[in-house]
Amino acid sequence: LTPHAFLGIDFGTSGARAIAINSNGDTLAEARSGYTDQTAVAWRAALFDLIGQIPADIRRLLSAIAINGTSTTALLCDAENRPLYPPLLYNDARAQDEAKQLAQITPPGHPVLSASSSLAKLLWFQKQPEFPCARFFLHQADWLASLLHGRPGISDYHNSLKLGFDPETLRYPEWLLQLEVVPLLPRVLAPGTAIGPVTAEIAAHLSLPRNCLIRAGTTDSIAAFIASGACRPGQAVTSLGSTLVLKLLSRKRVDAAQYGIYSHRIGNLWLAGGASNSGGAVLRSFFSDPRLKVLSSRIPPETDSGLDYYPLPCPGERFPINDPEFEPRLTPRPQEDALFLHGLLEGIARIEAQGYRLLQELGADPLESVLTAGGGADNPAWTSMRTRFLGVPVQPSSQVEAAFGSALLAARGENLLCYEQSQAERKN
Ligand code: ADP
Repeated sequence: LTPHAFLGIDFGTSGARAIAINSNGDTLAEARSGYTDQTAVAWRAALFDLIGQIPADIRRLLSAIAINGTSTTALLCDAENRPLYPPLLYNDARAQDEAKQLAQITPPGHPVLSASSSLAKLLWFQKQPEFPCARFFLHQADWLASLLHGRPGISDYHNSLKLGFDPETLRYPEWLLQLEVVPLLPRVLAPGTAIGPVTAEIAAHLSLPRNCLIRAGTTDSIAAFIASGACRPGQAVTSLGSTLVLKLLSRKRVDAAQYGIYSHRIGNLWLAGGASNSGGAVLRSFFSDPRLKVLSSRIPPETDSGLDYYPLPCPGERFPINDPEFEPRLTPRPQEDALFLHGLLEGIARIEAQGYRLLQELGADPLESVLTAGGGADNPAWTSMRTRFLGVPVQPSSQVEAAFGSALLAARGENLLCYEQSQAERKN
């Protein structure tokens, strides 16, 4: 029996990474490639460099590849799939007017209603002089995958959520089909769907098997979620990075625009998410990472600090409290730094618990367990406080790399969480 290998490729905000795994999910090889410019040429070079770095004996075994890109980073291409314009990056906010224009035609609170959404970017492209030559509008992951399979114009429903694609009905909604840009919209597949084998040219150029499949990809944050291994309703992943991001797997779709909550489809389930402005950025404004470690080891996590903080880097909160003028609460500051940090960590833990309560009140499945990613995951005192507030087991996630999640996507295909929901559960 020939062993199989699967390759996941992650295009992040500052560089790209590839991880090859076998059918058991063991890592076989890893590669990194940086780029200083966010240009299509630099991305293509990084893609080929990453695949080239995978040892030849593993490359020979590759049966599928999946790519994740940064959500809403997008390109406009001509009939030959050549970019007509530099890519618009995920945080590019020049499409302000287009977002306002969209507010006239979309349902209230739709995920396309921000200047950085892919649909707002497409409408911005429409006003550029190069537009008449445009044939395809693609996200970063779509375009990179098309370089390998040779069929431009295909996306997945994770990347396309902010393009307006409805993952429930699996179509573009009527209001969107009225727009002049419709001929440029990609065909949208379920993440993990086999698009086709690599082109003969790519197989020869990169020494890949001729039948190596390219699968529809996903976004960076969903790839990281897949990497965690969470796969059942009620399982959640909290990211404790600069901001606090909550993701909860649920049988029910939860959307609440006023809190910035929306859900991605994952097979038969939904991944409901919300992001608070609280998080590690506040901790970093007071303490260096090494100091955080030392102070945290002095905190007695079972006792209450007696402080009632709501840590925010500046006024304004969206989730779990929607108030653009919400004031941070960081006083009184005790003399002792360990006690101050105790209060800060407790404050963020309370926001996390309130966030999961809100997702459940809005209809998500009851919280069963929480995996943790990000800089705050490796803090046993905080983990123990969070376990107390959340009332469910909390653990660091053993895998947080988006490239690993994409490798699992390459291996599993459309059944991306490896979870088959039974008929009985679906009826519940
Ligand atoms: P991002 O990618 O969002 O910038 P990271 O996942 O790299 O963030 O995490 C960085 C954050 O983690 C910083 O804000 C920092 O304050 C916080 N952090 C680092 N070490 C610890 C620790 N031991 N305990 C709690 N928070 C920490």
